[in-house]
Amino acid sequence: MTSDLETAQFHIKRGLRHLPDGGFMVRWFKCLPIKVNIFGWRVRWNRLPTRLNLVSRGVDVESSMCTCCDENVEEVNHLFVGCVMVRQLWSRLANWLQVDIPIFTSVDQMWSWVDSHPIARGWREIIGAMVLTLMWVVWKYRNDKMFGNNEFRRHMLLDSIISFSYSWVTSRNCKISKDWNRWMMNPLMN
Ligand SMILES: [Zn+2]
Repeated sequence: MTSDLETAQFHIKRGLRHLPDGGFMVRWFKCLPIKVNIFGWRVRWNRLPTRLNLVSRGVDVESSMCTCCDENVEEVNHLFVGCVMVRQLWSRLANWLQVDIPIFTSVDQMWSWVDSHPIARGWREIIGAMVLTLMWVVWKYRNDKMFGNNEFRRHMLLDSIISFSYSWVTSRNCKISKDWNRWMMNPLMN
Protein backbone atom coordinates (compact mmCIF):
# COMPACT_ATOMS: atom_id res chain seq x y z
CA MET A 1 0.00 0.00 0.00
CA THR A 2 1.38 3.42 -0.94
CA SER A 3 2.06 5.72 2.00
CA ASP A 4 1.07 9.40 2.07
CA LEU A 5 4.74 10.37 1.95
CA GLU A 6 5.43 8.12 -1.05
CA THR A 7 2.43 9.63 -2.83
CA ALA A 8 3.79 13.12 -2.10
CA GLN A 9 7.28 12.21 -3.35
CA PHE A 10 5.79 10.73 -6.52
CA HIS A 11 3.98 13.96 -7.30
CA ILE A 12 7.04 16.07 -6.44
CA LYS A 13 9.13 14.04 -8.90
CA ARG A 14 6.45 14.58 -11.51
CA GLY A 15 6.82 18.31 -10.93
CA LEU A 16 3.24 18.87 -9.89
CA ARG A 17 2.68 22.04 -7.92
CA HIS A 18 -0.29 20.67 -6.02
CA LEU A 19 -0.92 17.38 -4.29
CA PRO A 20 -4.26 15.61 -4.60
CA ASP A 21 -6.45 15.76 -1.53
CA GLY A 22 -9.70 14.16 -2.60
CA GLY A 23 -11.56 17.02 -4.26
CA PHE A 24 -9.25 19.60 -2.72
CA MET A 25 -5.80 20.45 -4.10
CA VAL A 26 -3.12 21.12 -1.51
CA ARG A 27 -0.83 23.97 -2.46
CA TRP A 28 2.85 23.46 -3.18
CA PHE A 29 5.35 26.32 -2.98
CA LYS A 30 8.36 26.06 -5.27
CA CYS A 31 10.13 28.73 -3.23
CA LEU A 32 10.01 26.63 -0.03
CA PRO A 33 11.93 23.44 0.85
CA ILE A 34 10.23 20.07 0.40
CA LYS A 35 10.17 19.54 4.19
CA VAL A 36 8.09 22.70 4.67
CA ASN A 37 5.68 21.76 1.87
CA ILE A 38 5.29 18.28 3.36
CA PHE A 39 4.61 19.96 6.71
CA GLY A 40 1.84 22.07 5.09
CA TRP A 41 0.40 18.88 3.62
CA ARG A 42 0.38 17.24 7.06
CA VAL A 43 -1.43 20.27 8.51
CA ARG A 44 -4.06 20.05 5.75
CA TRP A 45 -4.58 16.34 6.40
CA ASN A 46 -4.49 16.80 10.17
CA ARG A 47 -1.54 14.38 10.34
CA LEU A 48 0.56 16.32 12.85
CA PRO A 49 1.01 14.70 16.29
CA THR A 50 -0.85 17.46 18.11
CA ARG A 51 -1.84 16.55 21.63
CA LEU A 52 -5.48 16.04 20.61
CA ASN A 53 -4.41 13.70 17.81
CA LEU A 54 -2.15 11.78 20.20
CA VAL A 55 -4.96 11.41 22.74
CA SER A 56 -7.41 10.28 20.07
CA ARG A 57 -4.88 7.60 19.01
CA GLY A 58 -4.71 6.34 22.57
CA VAL A 59 -1.23 7.75 23.28
CA ASP A 60 -0.69 8.56 26.94
CA VAL A 61 0.14 12.29 27.12
CA GLU A 62 0.29 14.36 30.27
CA SER A 63 -2.19 16.92 28.91
CA SER A 64 -4.28 17.58 25.81
CA MET A 65 -3.97 21.34 26.30
CA CYS A 66 -2.03 23.66 23.97
CA THR A 67 1.72 23.55 24.58
CA CYS A 68 2.00 27.29 23.85
CA CYS A 69 -0.83 28.78 25.99
CA ASP A 70 -2.30 25.92 28.06
CA GLU A 71 -5.76 27.47 27.59
CA ASN A 72 -7.34 25.34 24.83
CA VAL A 73 -7.15 21.82 23.51
CA GLU A 74 -4.17 21.53 21.19
CA GLU A 75 -5.45 20.89 17.66
CA VAL A 76 -4.33 22.38 14.34
CA ASN A 77 -6.81 25.24 14.09
CA HIS A 78 -6.10 26.41 17.62
CA LEU A 79 -2.35 25.91 17.33
CA PHE A 80 -1.89 27.81 14.07
CA VAL A 81 -4.58 30.51 14.06
CA GLY A 82 -6.55 30.54 17.33
CA CYS A 83 -3.85 30.47 20.01
CA VAL A 84 -3.38 33.83 21.74
CA MET A 85 0.39 33.54 21.34
CA VAL A 86 0.10 32.80 17.61
CA ARG A 87 -2.40 35.62 17.06
CA GLN A 88 0.26 38.03 18.31
CA LEU A 89 2.65 36.53 15.78
CA TRP A 90 0.09 36.93 12.95
CA SER A 91 -0.25 40.59 13.98
CA ARG A 92 3.52 41.09 13.88
CA LEU A 93 3.69 39.35 10.47
CA ALA A 94 0.99 41.74 9.20
CA ASN A 95 3.00 44.74 10.43
CA TRP A 96 6.15 43.46 8.74
CA LEU A 97 4.43 42.79 5.41
CA GLN A 98 2.20 45.88 5.76
CA VAL A 99 -0.76 43.71 4.87
CA ASP A 100 -4.09 43.74 6.68
CA ILE A 101 -4.40 40.17 7.99
CA PRO A 102 -7.76 39.34 9.64
CA ILE A 103 -8.27 37.05 12.62
CA PHE A 104 -8.87 33.54 11.30
CA THR A 105 -10.94 30.79 12.89
CA SER A 106 -9.42 27.95 10.87
CA VAL A 107 -6.41 27.14 8.71
CA ASP A 108 -8.73 26.63 5.72
CA GLN A 109 -10.13 30.14 6.24
CA MET A 110 -6.59 31.48 6.32
CA TRP A 111 -5.80 29.84 2.95
CA SER A 112 -9.03 31.24 1.49
CA TRP A 113 -7.82 34.69 2.55
CA VAL A 114 -4.45 34.09 0.84
CA ASP A 115 -6.28 33.03 -2.35
CA SER A 116 -8.60 36.03 -2.35
CA HIS A 117 -6.22 38.77 -1.19
CA PRO A 118 -6.11 41.48 -3.89
CA ILE A 119 -2.48 41.21 -4.96
CA ALA A 120 -0.57 40.19 -8.08
CA ARG A 121 -0.12 36.44 -8.62
CA GLY A 122 3.63 36.39 -7.96
CA TRP A 123 3.22 38.19 -4.66
CA ARG A 124 0.38 35.87 -3.65
CA GLU A 125 2.91 33.03 -3.88
CA ILE A 126 5.23 34.99 -1.57
CA ILE A 127 2.48 35.74 0.96
CA GLY A 128 1.47 32.08 0.90
CA ALA A 129 5.09 31.08 1.48
CA MET A 130 5.28 33.50 4.42
CA VAL A 131 2.20 32.14 6.16
CA LEU A 132 3.38 28.55 5.71
CA THR A 133 6.78 29.60 7.12
CA LEU A 134 4.95 31.12 10.11
CA MET A 135 3.15 27.85 10.77
CA TRP A 136 6.38 25.87 10.39
CA VAL A 137 8.16 28.14 12.90
CA VAL A 138 5.21 27.84 15.34
CA TRP A 139 5.40 24.05 15.09
CA LYS A 140 9.18 24.10 15.71
CA TYR A 141 8.67 26.41 18.71
CA ARG A 142 5.91 24.16 20.04
CA ASN A 143 8.17 21.10 19.73
CA ASP A 144 11.06 22.90 21.39
CA LYS A 145 8.81 23.93 24.28
CA MET A 146 7.37 20.45 24.58
CA PHE A 147 10.76 18.72 24.63
CA GLY A 148 12.64 21.35 26.65
CA ASN A 149 14.94 22.67 23.91
CA ASN A 150 15.72 26.33 23.46
CA GLU A 151 16.47 26.78 19.78
CA PHE A 152 13.29 28.75 19.05
CA ARG A 153 12.65 31.57 21.55
CA ARG A 154 9.20 33.12 21.73
CA HIS A 155 10.40 36.72 21.33
CA MET A 156 12.50 35.64 18.32
CA LEU A 157 9.75 33.92 16.32
CA LEU A 158 9.19 36.77 13.85
CA ASP A 159 12.96 37.03 13.38
CA SER A 160 13.00 33.29 12.64
CA ILE A 161 10.24 33.72 10.03
CA ILE A 162 12.14 36.61 8.40
CA SER A 163 15.47 34.77 8.25
CA PHE A 164 14.12 31.36 7.20
CA SER A 165 11.90 32.85 4.50
CA TYR A 166 14.81 34.98 3.23
CA SER A 167 17.15 32.02 2.83
CA TRP A 168 14.47 29.79 1.33
CA VAL A 169 12.72 32.20 -1.03
CA THR A 170 15.74 34.13 -2.33
CA SER A 171 17.62 30.91 -3.11
CA ARG A 172 14.71 29.49 -5.12
CA ASN A 173 13.10 32.54 -6.72
CA CYS A 174 15.51 34.44 -8.98
CA LYS A 175 13.06 37.32 -9.42
CA ILE A 176 13.33 38.28 -5.75
CA SER A 177 16.06 40.69 -4.66
CA LYS A 178 18.66 39.14 -2.35
CA ASP A 179 19.12 42.47 -0.55
CA TRP A 180 18.80 41.48 3.12
CA ASN A 181 17.99 45.02 4.30
CA ARG A 182 15.14 45.34 1.83
CA TRP A 183 13.87 41.93 2.87
CA MET A 184 13.86 42.94 6.51
CA MET A 185 11.99 46.15 5.67
CA ASN A 186 9.30 44.34 3.68
CA PRO A 187 9.82 41.58 1.08
CA LEU A 188 6.64 42.65 -0.76
CA MET A 189 8.28 46.04 -1.52
CA ASN A 190 11.17 44.20 -3.16
ZN1 LIG B 1 -2.64 27.93 22.55
